[in-house]
Amino acid sequence: MGNSGSNSNEKEIGSKFAEGEHPVGFENKSATICYANSVLQTLYYCEPFRRRVLEYRSTESSNDNPILLLQDIFNMIGSFKKKQGCLSTKKLMSYVKDKNEMFRGDMHQDSHEFLNWFLNEVNETLQKKDKKKDGKEMTSPTPNPKLKRKTWLEEIFEGVVTTQTKCLTCQTTTERDEPFLDLGIDLEQNTSISYCIKNFSNAEVLKDDDKFHCDKCKGLHDAEKKVLIKNLPNTLIIHLKRFKYDDQLKRLVKLNYKVAFPSDIRVEANKETGSYKYYDLYGVVIHIGPGLNYGHYVSAIKTNNKWLLFDDEYVTLLDERQLANYFGHSTHTKAAYLLFYQAVSEEKEYKTPLNPNHEERKMQDEN
Ligand SMILES: [Zn+2]
Repeated sequence: MGNSGSNSNEKEIGSKFAEGEHPVGFENKSATICYANSVLQTLYYCEPFRRRVLEYRSTESSNDNPILLLQDIFNMIGSFKKKQGCLSTKKLMSYVKDKNEMFRGDMHQDSHEFLNWFLNEVNETLQKKDKKKDGKEMTSPTPNPKLKRKTWLEEIFEGVVTTQTKCLTCQTTTERDEPFLDLGIDLEQNTSISYCIKNFSNAEVLKDDDKFHCDKCKGLHDAEKKVLIKNLPNTLIIHLKRFKYDDQLKRLVKLNYKVAFPSDIRVEANKETGSYKYYDLYGVVIHIGPGLNYGHYVSAIKTNNKWLLFDDEYVTLLDERQLANYFGHSTHTKAAYLLFYQAVSEEKEYKTPLNPNHEERKMQDEN
């Protein structure tokens, strides 16, 4: 699809970056891979991830290894000589289509599904390598099998949530920890991302068809379920759940709810009190269009203190204030779908939120 991407704007961008340090678009000849292009650009600008991918070494054939295929693309971006232009992700995309039939057709795809699948694919490749290493090192004592060694992908993106389920018959609470690579959050109209994260843990009652099997009183009972954030990742990917199944329409509908996202946030892990992290926003994958199967993806990315808009082949400058256009709006269908926040080590002063009218508490309904 692409936009009008004027040449003057591309020249302007080219002149603002040092040689080999300027952004490159990705081809989308079939107009079907914007879901992947927008995610791959955002992963490239995740600095710890990019560094690890570029350092990665393997003797495997590059055609069977997603990290090597990605490394090729990252190397091509790094050594891109032309002031403007774009490159092809074809080799990586044929791996993707070969491995997962979900991405094979010409149907428009879900960029969140792609991101999640791809990160897991990279992670499994790293875990296989670790296993091979363990097999060779027979002389070293067996480490505590409970202490799972983290891969570099997990060190970057993995957080942990704890699901607490309280049986309402015997009041016994059971806890289960689950790792996540992205945090999926439910949205509420006219709120902020901080509000939605705080309400992430809101209790939900399991009843009727959804009863909980309690091990203590042996049987299906009503229960109260809470999901709490236990460990925060270094790179926090937030998936805004904008696509909801509508029981009456019998299809997925898009929620264009307005959810403001500031460029810096403080997130608390609410499982163990007192633990928190400060994050800076560096990437936003935006969905444009009425529904999952009819739409387009672009990404807004911050690099060298500038915001850029990546729209397949085209890269244009974006004023930071324009990010507010992607909060979600009832009259247009452009809205942030994935947010990429990078943890910062230093506590910093809060900047003014992107939308001056936005407050952390839920605002009054516009009507
Ligand atoms: Zn019970």
